[in-house]
Amino acid sequence: MMGKLPQVGVSIFTQMSALANATGAYNLSQGFPSFEPDTLLVEKLAYYAANGKNQYCPATGIAELRNQLAKLYNYNADTEITVTSGASEALFSAIATVVSPGDEVIIIEPAYDLYAPAIQLQGGVPVFVQMKYPDFTIDWDEVESKITNKTSLIIINTPHNPTGKVLTNQDITSLENIINKHPNLYLVSDEVYEFILFDERKHVSLSSSPILKERAFVCSSFAKTFHITGWKIGYCLAPKKLSEELRKVHQYITFCTFTPAQYAIADYLEQSEAYLELASFYQKKRDLFALALRDTEFAFELTEGTFFQNVSYKHLSEKSDIEVSKLLTEKIGVASIPTSVFYENKTDHKVLRFCFAKDDDMLLAAAERLKSAARYL
Ligand code: PMP
Ligand code: GLN
Repeated sequence: MMGKLPQVGVSIFTQMSALANATGAYNLSQGFPSFEPDTLLVEKLAYYAANGKNQYCPATGIAELRNQLAKLYNYNADTEITVTSGASEALFSAIATVVSPGDEVIIIEPAYDLYAPAIQLQGGVPVFVQMKYPDFTIDWDEVESKITNKTSLIIINTPHNPTGKVLTNQDITSLENIINKHPNLYLVSDEVYEFILFDERKHVSLSSSPILKERAFVCSSFAKTFHITGWKIGYCLAPKKLSEELRKVHQYITFCTFTPAQYAIADYLEQSEAYLELASFYQKKRDLFALALRDTEFAFELTEGTFFQNVSYKHLSEKSDIEVSKLLTEKIGVASIPTSVFYENKTDHKVLRFCFAKDDDMLLAAAERLKSAARYL
């Protein structure tokens, strides 16, 4: 049969945003800000588009941007940093670089929707390990027990979408022990929420461990950091040998990515350290939303990172999370993401994910509506 992904339909993000738009609901489903990026950044994009930066740039990204990234991360600008079309393309290229037909790849669930299809498109086989409910911790012994002589890659995501969990130093040590024992194993680390951690937590990048860094493709993006999810500028950080291989794939997926935005971001990074304020900016939103949610009947723990707050309605209803997220969108006008979609076998813990990258007024109005949610469950 023609088609490589028979089990895949339209993404839940597209579906729920469409339903939110059709019903006029507050859209706390798909993860994107309801507010604008810094005008300085937008002006720079307009400036470079009006001043001759409209043609192909080097496939690896403009040197100005790679040099700025080299100030932020301990990687070489010329040989270890590649600018990509969003973290999506960084992840896809990294997976395509490592995975050959028949290879097994360990994915920790719940998992972002891109990983499994990207593996399958390379002829690889995803192998799933679930985080432990209800705390969503990772059982590294279980991860290790899934490694076979076909395993070529483990995919990590911290801070984690959709649970908001962040890896600890203990997790890094456990992963190091695994990597030390398996010389042919690589790592792809999705760190797009690296600047959004709460309550003084520190981001633990896989690149902070020399052992893991050697084997890792660290993928990130300016989408969340600068409120520009539509610009699709991301990057992949990896040691020289790994980057060389990744760049071969990247050059045939997209060659280069949107030139004027790269100039705008490079300039902006030179002038602004706005990203350093991101955690406190989002912590205020998390706390505002959470305080208002206390007047609803949902149960929840404050999220550790990302701009997602998960809530449980297990004690209120037997209905599936997909049904409940649709009901709440249609009946009370608040859209969320049902988290069962992040599991291969659709494990339903009766948890909904709300995105709080929204104006305060919208967050308060949405929480007010959610007070009557139990009536529809
Ligand atoms: N990984 C995760 C965990 C995400 O949540 C997202 C998107 N929000 C991406 C990757 C994709 O990032 P980008 O929009 O830069 O492609
Ligand atoms: N990462 C966003 C989310 O988790 C969605 C991005 C997309 O729609 N592909 O909501």
